[in-house]
Amino acid sequence: MPDSNAQLRSLPSVDALLAQDSIQPLFETFPRDLVVAAARETIARARQAILQSSSIDPAAEALAAQVGRCLRAQLQPSLVPVINATGVIIHTNLGRAVLSADAQAAMSAAARAYNNLEFDLDSGKRGSRLTHAGQLLRELTGAEAAVVVNNNASALILILSALAKGGDVIISRGQLVEIGGGFRIPAIMRESGARLVEVGTTNRTRLADFGNALNQRTAMLLRVHASNFKQIGFVEQPSLDDLVGLANEHDLLAVDDLGSGALIDTAQFGLDREPLVQDSVAAGMDLVCFSGDKLLGGPQAGIIVGKADAVQRLKRHPLARALRVDKLTYAALLATLMHYRLGQATQRIPVWRMIAQTTADIQARADAWAAAVGGAVLPGDSAVGGGSLPGAVLPTMLLALENQAPDALMAKLRQSQPPVIARVAHGRVLIDPRTVLPEQDADLLRALKSAR
Ligand SMILES: *Cc1c(COP(=O)(O)O)cnc(C)c1O
Repeated sequence: MPDSNAQLRSLPSVDALLAQDSIQPLFETFPRDLVVAAARETIARARQAILQSSSIDPAAEALAAQVGRCLRAQLQPSLVPVINATGVIIHTNLGRAVLSADAQAAMSAAARAYNNLEFDLDSGKRGSRLTHAGQLLRELTGAEAAVVVNNNASALILILSALAKGGDVIISRGQLVEIGGGFRIPAIMRESGARLVEVGTTNRTRLADFGNALNQRTAMLLRVHASNFKQIGFVEQPSLDDLVGLANEHDLLAVDDLGSGALIDTAQFGLDREPLVQDSVAAGMDLVCFSGDKLLGGPQAGIIVGKADAVQRLKRHPLARALRVDKLTYAALLATLMHYRLGQATQRIPVWRMIAQTTADIQARADAWAAAVGGAVLPGDSAVGGGSLPGAVLPTMLLALENQAPDALMAKLRQSQPPVIARVAHGRVLIDPRTVLPEQDADLLRALKSAR
């Protein structure tokens, strides 16, 4: 047992530590006060370690090496890229959709130079940023008009505030959902000044339930897609056509919150059919809203498409200004939408590429990883995630790592650079190639080798 008093006494002073040769280059790179703070921190940690009777080398040369590490750790941004080995494609905690190469390039171009965000190049006069995604969204969805806001929650707030304030909004009891992170439809409606009228029962709501709830104050019929849970069995909801018919008959707005909002059919990949934006538009819904970073595979955004007059009222509402998106979002969104326009979404958009991967391709990667770092290759499931296709899974092949302490291995993987996020099942750490980007393979293998 080292004598801890003697060790404490031999800790260097801050000045002595800063005088070490190996510290001097740090002064050329970093502001002096940051180096001094890192030196203090290093000494404080060493003192702590000695008091907790860990044996450390208190010599100034040994501690000097730690000052640089401490400094770099302090300067790490809190937001860093990670390797998503969970197999959950739209992982809300891991930033949802990874952007396509074109979308990345478009954001970078928008960041590098001035642009015509609010400038009409033909007339040379002030333009509106709200025009940018309009044409592509009209073409892709068949809607008359479109507006883009910060996210789909904002889209709902804008729609309800601008078009239903002080009025009744009728919604099926089975659709009063919580979307995640405590975001609840009833709370949103209260905030926007619309009065919520719930009709039907948890599992069954008929058109007549909507019809019976109509009165002079009724402003809107709202449908909310059950994006993160699934009802099976004795369930019923009125069809889009019926809702639109009732709304038209009584001069009300029919609004569809699709949540994810797919533009291409998920059924072609063996999944359930996530409702298509085009179908809601074609059914005659006045407004349809969905997220930009779920199945669309683009940046965080709330996209609202629908009838021209309803969209016009949204654009004129003061909240439209508060909820607007910036040039980087437009750049990424336009590039993403262009992939759909060119019929290349499943080849170019990472979310769709991950969905479309074959098990044979996934197995080839898992086999190669097992050959490099050990472990077994087992069949398993990936998930679409992000409030899309609840319960739907995609068959995958997993690299399974046996470990005495899988949680400790998970913790080590999270400390890797870049951090690796995996999952544990039956005492094994599971690595799903589906969500690991091809360019991350080398980093993943390095992390797995050093953590095991
Ligand atoms: C995800 C979701 C939202 C919220 O969308 P954000 O873009 O995350 O704000 C709203 N409604 C439904 C049905 C959803 O699935």
